[in-house]
Amino acid sequence: MDQPGNRLPKNVEGKYYTTDDCNGCAYCASVAPENFDFDKPSNSYYVSKQPVDPNEEELVDEALSDCPIDAIQVEGNSVLSPEGE
Ligand code: SF4
Repeated sequence: MDQPGNRLPKNVEGKYYTTDDCNGCAYCASVAPENFDFDKPSNSYYVSKQPVDPNEEELVDEALSDCPIDAIQVEGNSVLSPEGE
């Protein structure tokens, strides 16, 4: 696996964030529209709101697992990493 990219500055503070690997495919925003937003200048999506309840967290986790290029990361990633280095 490649190194994760750099955290995009638009992400709100908190454990979930997107990186500059994001290609703007919009998948995450279709899964968790409350939590992801589009940044036009960088053509990328960022975490606009951290999940505030278990339902939102589940959707953000789903987006994280299914992002085609692993551009969604969790601070201190431990539990959710699907595979080792
Ligand atoms: S699913 Fe991944 S690559 Fe697609 S917009 Fe979201 S963060 Fe970017």
